[in-house]
Amino acid sequence: MTSDKGLIIVLSGFSGAGKGTIMKHLLETHPDDYNLSISATTRGMRSGEKDGREYFFKTKEEFEAMIENNELLEHACFNGNYYGTPRAYVETLIERRKDVILEIEIQGALKVKEMYPDALLLFTMPPSANELQNRLVGRGTETEEVIKQRLEISCKESGYMNKYDYLIINDSLEKAVDQVHNIIQSEHFRVSRNQTIIAQMKEELKIFERSN
Ligand code: ADP
Ligand code: 5GP
Repeated sequence: MTSDKGLIIVLSGFSGAGKGTIMKHLLETHPDDYNLSISATTRGMRSGEKDGREYFFKTKEEFEAMIENNELLEHACFNGNYYGTPRAYVETLIERRKDVILEIEIQGALKVKEMYPDALLLFTMPPSANELQNRLVGRGTETEEVIKQRLEISCKESGYMNKYDYLIINDSLEKAVDQVHNIIQSEHFRVSRNQTIIAQMKEELKIFERSN
């Protein structure tokens, strides 16, 4: 990796778009390249989830204490539950020049962009709205009513997609994972992200400068 600092990468997308699935495969295929921030939430644990792996599951009181103590980089309310990004993990990693991925919703993504204008914002969606519904239903983790609420939220969220840097259509999972990886790796080569090595080269070249 060449760039000055680790990247903060935000992956957002409609509920059921496949963010969690993409992240799982990205981390499996490139375990040394990425670190995933684990969020805190007050939503109930789904079957198959484990505290400290998908989320840190908190009570409302515990979560509000985290807000109070400034332990969260950002937080948002999504369909009646709190979700937030623990601050320390992200700050430590970027200082160590490691890439960190935040899989968070849009309000949180925009707050991160405000705090870190260099953050890379990725948005993922399935090829169609029908497919989104099929995936939410197929996942089988939410009631019919919650699925309806989440689809309604998606409709509102679609108004913010233009705020993102890149769009990834999650049709073939393998392709989507490759696209996320390639976009992130290309970002490291942006001139604006490589000011340290540029300054160093400029300095080194001065020995060839002729005084006339
Ligand atoms: P999100 O984290 O965005 O809410 P998930 O990762 O839980 O979404 O995916 C929602 C459902 O869609 C899951 O059942 C998952 O297995 C399925 N899924 C994810 N990506 C694809 C894909 N590319 N093709 C078909 N199904 C997918
Ligand atoms: P789910 O309940 O499906 O796991 O997540 C619901 C939404 O909350 C998703 O859009 C997910 O990306 C988002 N989310 C998860 N963690 C965080 C977080 O720390 N902050 C914010 N703002 N959103 C989050």
